Amino acid sequence: MSSNKIGWNFDNTYSKLPKSMLSKLSPNPVKHPEIIIINQNLSKELSLNFSGVENEELASIFSGNLLPDGSESIAQAYAGHQFGHFTMLGDGRTIIIGEHIDKKNKRFDIQFKGSGKTPYSRNGDGRAALGPMLREYVISEAMHYLGIPTTRSLAVVKTGETVMRETPLTGAILTRVAESHIRVGTFQYANITENQKNLKTLFDYTIDRHYPNIKKSKNAAIDLLKIVIQKQAKLVTEWMRVGFIHGVMNTDNMTISGETIDYGPCAFMDIYNPETVFSSIDHQGRYAYFNQPGITKWNLARFAESLIPIIDKNKDQAISTATKIINNFAEIYKKYWLEMMKNKLGLFDENENDEILITDLLMWMYKNKADYTNTFCYLMKENIRENKIYKNDTFIDWQKKWLKRLGFKNNSFENSLNIMRKVNPLVIPRNHKVEEALDAANKNDLNLLNNLLKILKTPYESQKNIEDYRDPAPLSKKKYQTFCGT
Ligand code: AMP
Ligand code: MG
Repeated sequence: MSSNKIGWNFDNTYSKLPKSMLSKLSPNPVKHPEIIIINQNLSKELSLNFSGVENEELASIFSGNLLPDGSESIAQAYAGHQFGHFTMLGDGRTIIIGEHIDKKNKRFDIQFKGSGKTPYSRNGDGRAALGPMLREYVISEAMHYLGIPTTRSLAVVKTGETVMRETPLTGAILTRVAESHIRVGTFQYANITENQKNLKTLFDYTIDRHYPNIKKSKNAAIDLLKIVIQKQAKLVTEWMRVGFIHGVMNTDNMTISGETIDYGPCAFMDIYNPETVFSSIDHQGRYAYFNQPGITKWNLARFAESLIPIIDKNKDQAISTATKIINNFAEIYKKYWLEMMKNKLGLFDENENDEILITDLLMWMYKNKADYTNTFCYLMKENIRENKIYKNDTFIDWQKKWLKRLGFKNNSFENSLNIMRKVNPLVIPRNHKVEEALDAANKNDLNLLNNLLKILKTPYESQKNIEDYRDPAPLSKKKYQTFCGT
């Protein structure tokens, strides 16, 4: 069968874990699968080749109707704090069909999202709609090309079935590719089931799979905690760099690999406002832009709690050790954040006033409702169509101070520009452009979607004729709200 021609190379390990950690089951077949989009670049990176395969067969594969040889499909069990409340969860609408090993020997979970009910579906139908699946495709690919660790999207198919939400919607399945789907919530689950027997199994498995270099260390649990803290501190710094708001940073949506996962109500901030929230269900602003680092720490504390039994046999000792480590988060994050913001402003070397310079600019942006992305573009002398705002006296004063600081130790503007261009995207997936592309795709027109994806592939390069994609949303579309993709 053609799955060998495609190059699937499955070596499934998670499915060998204890029964209570997962359920073995196949995706529910769908009626009339139809390919909407296939990620050719990603397939090459995964050493997969779809060129000789008919669209109909691809549709069967990426809908789960035809499982490739070597696949062993499972739904994973996990728990998690959702908006602060602990709940038993699990893959309610996703199925991992296996772990694919590419030619560089890298292991990836291949997962279908929207593939039908599982034992963890609770009241859900296990299905997904086309809009949200394409949204995950666009945003995860944008994040990848922005240089931010993320799960990827390999394909979206329409199922030929309708999913019932507030209105009937077109059903779809997304193929998600991840270094793994082990979450903070997976550890939380393992810690409270089977008298913690699962915990040690999951712990050993995670280290083997992601961090084999700490396998023999004196206290691997402490090392794992420290590594995940570093990875997540770095990740959230990267989100802050580009104005990404995840929207639903529950502990089940935080990976141990350090990849961004679960693109639901996420969106990019346009006007700089630290309190920005797009998600319709985040009434308290728990996951607002500026709360993201604090929530990362909170989630990491839940991770630390679930490692307590492995950190030290003496519980009090373990808690005291873990607490000290978690309390380093603020300092670690601050260091990453300062470095990141200095890069955004092209600031070489150290200067004691740097932090004030940075916060003054952020404060000015906030007070004047300036666009976050475009303000940095303006500083890089990029053409910005809406630039009247930068004639403001306070901004001009700030800019003078900044230019003086750039000249520190005879540094040239060109040098600074080189750094700035690597970290300040010229284009991001602007909410109104994403919506416009998804609306058209829902009406079977994929041109806007493909065009958007093409532009988002080189966010740091000047591209011709993309002003429309760089402009902030027109006034009528400014109040943007996102909804959970269920
Ligand atoms: P999420 O908000 O996507 O992180 O999902 C939270 C939990 O709800 C996870 O356990 C999901 O598997 C589950 N879930 C989300 N949507 C559905 C659905 N349509 N059917 C069943 N379970 C779902
Ligand atoms: Mg989730």
